Amino acid sequence: MTSILQCLEDKPDCNRCELHEQAKSIGMKTRLYAYSNFIIRPTLLVIGQNPGWNEDKVNEPFVGRSGEILKKSYIGGINIQKRCNIYLSNGVRCHTTNNQAPKPKHYLECNQYLIEDLQIIKPDIILTLGAPATTSFYKNILEIPKITLKKAFQINGNFYKPETVHLKCKGFNMFSTYHPAAVMRNQNLINSVHSHMQLISDCIDGTMASPSSPKIIPTRSPHES
Ligand code: URA
Repeated sequence: MTSILQCLEDKPDCNRCELHEQAKSIGMKTRLYAYSNFIIRPTLLVIGQNPGWNEDKVNEPFVGRSGEILKKSYIGGINIQKRCNIYLSNGVRCHTTNNQAPKPKHYLECNQYLIEDLQIIKPDIILTLGAPATTSFYKNILEIPKITLKKAFQINGNFYKPETVHLKCKGFNMFSTYHPAAVMRNQNLINSVHSHMQLISDCIDGTMASPSSPKIIPTRSPHES
């Protein structure tokens, strides 16, 4: 039987955009970070921006300083590696020269990889890190075009069941928080990160209070009126 990890292939032939010309690791795949074969537990998919220099070198997401903060402070802070399966991924799958921020078109070009991952991994919970990964996910996957990171924070925990023609999946609780790189620049942000992560912990335990906005905001096919 083909395992989930075998399904999550790198995309070495990818030439959807120009980023493949400079990247060492092309189309970096989503990686498993924590998993239990023995216990049925929810699956969390963490989506960052794009691989940095360290990640590009070893073809593995979140192995540099941002990854250290993500693993120790975000995930380790609420001990969820013991309570859920965790996959680490990126909205854009190639490193950018000089660490430039990827453009919206790069997120769009890589969107198909995220859609494939969602259908294979079937996450129960999704966490996006930082404004670009968050707004791109809302726009390209949930088809909610205008959202700020602050607004996403307010509706953390909402359940989405995408029903687009492109994506059929069972649905997930959606969370967003600051990117670890932002925390490195401003350490005060870690308090907000911890409160967002606590909500994820509550969601895993089934003790999360209902979000204030409508709980289910189904996305619609672009062909529907
Ligand atoms: N920052 C990201 O957004 N992704 C990585 O994989 C590494 C750093």
